[in-house]
Amino acid sequence: MKMAVVRHTSINCLAISGLALLTLSLAPSPISPDLEEPHLFELPPPEVTGLVAPWSCGEEFTVSLGHHERSHQGPGQWAWDFATPKGTLLRAPAEGTIRMVRDDSLRHGCNPAYAWDANYVVLELGGGYEVLLLHLEAGSALVEPGQRVSVGQPLARVGDSGYVCGTHLHFQVQKSCSSWWCPSVPAAFSEDLRLEPGQVLRRTDCPTS
Ligand SMILES: [Zn+2]
Repeated sequence: MKMAVVRHTSINCLAISGLALLTLSLAPSPISPDLEEPHLFELPPPEVTGLVAPWSCGEEFTVSLGHHERSHQGPGQWAWDFATPKGTLLRAPAEGTIRMVRDDSLRHGCNPAYAWDANYVVLELGGGYEVLLLHLEAGSALVEPGQRVSVGQPLARVGDSGYVCGTHLHFQVQKSCSSWWCPSVPAAFSEDLRLEPGQVLRRTDCPTS
């Protein structure tokens, strides 16, 4: 009998769906190490590839929440959360043009009522795709709408604005819409096409020492 396995837990969001509760109850079942670990869903091909980890060379951060987990439903279903400390300098994961910036919100809390209080940067990649970096620190934006940025260019710092249950970066590639909160799409960082919860992401475009 095939079992779904939840391999990691996270404190990012306390809203646990019925599906998650069901899989948690199944988790203790032993799985043969010879068998490929089953997934809760089939990963479709990424629509955007070649992204660079959005932080500085030498830094690496862990995926704390993956696709379709807990709060990552609906428009945010293809998001990743990263366990980035407050103040981490975020950099452009690809070249593009800044479409939207907000960094004036001081409101935050572990409740969906704060969902529209997040600070963010939206970076257009072209082809109707863009990157959303969410929960940024108030007053930390280093770019403005219309500005062209190159890979690795500083954008803003990690904060805890909006709906958060612990500081983290919410990162998603999305199809552009009339809001900053648009439907996410499957995407891939250059170094790991199947980046999953618990995995560490580091930049691969940095000089080796
Ligand atoms: Zn998230």
